[in-house]
Amino acid sequence: MRVQPWFWLIAGIIAFQYAPPNQGMLTVLSIVAAICVIFVSILGHELGHALAIRKYQNGYPSITLMGMGGYATGGRMGGVPGARRVICAGNFVTVSIAICSFLALGFLPPESSLLLRNSLKMAVFVNIFWFIFNSLPVYPMDGGQLLFELMGAHKSYGHLSRAQNTSMGMGAGLAVFFLLVGQVIAALLLGFFCYQLYLMKKMR
Ligand SMILES: [Zn+2]
Repeated sequence: MRVQPWFWLIAGIIAFQYAPPNQGMLTVLSIVAAICVIFVSILGHELGHALAIRKYQNGYPSITLMGMGGYATGGRMGGVPGARRVICAGNFVTVSIAICSFLALGFLPPESSLLLRNSLKMAVFVNIFWFIFNSLPVYPMDGGQLLFELMGAHKSYGHLSRAQNTSMGMGAGLAVFFLLVGQVIAALLLGFFCYQLYLMKKMR
């Protein structure tokens, strides 16, 4: 497992924006807690993929966390047994963390600390966001990989081409949507994935 420095930087920026400002120790602890929440959430998602690779494909996975999330290597795609399970396992963990955090928030006694309450809220927020974004049908995100599997992209060049076009079209549409609602970073990321898909097509 590797964690790139970019991961800590981006997590730190998100945590800083979320923490209550100018409250001394509470601000510092909130930032540290939020970074931990982000780390556990993203690592949990990738561990889901990694465990599925071990269990369903007998592979030897490795995990890398980077600026914009993470990835698990060692899984095999392209219609092989377990491919769909490996793809879905990440979001299975992500949804589980969101539900558990939400339930914990509900059962928290009223006198519990603001820090704990905020951390659980952060866990719900981060994992719901991660689930939605990862599920978008744009390659190489999980949703896009699942789309490629479902459309049989490994079967022939025609299948692959159709899957790439579908993914690119939806990615472009979603990028415009995110731009219109003011989510510039999400729009840029989707635009970048569309460009990658375009290059993949051209290289054939
Ligand atoms: Zn994933």
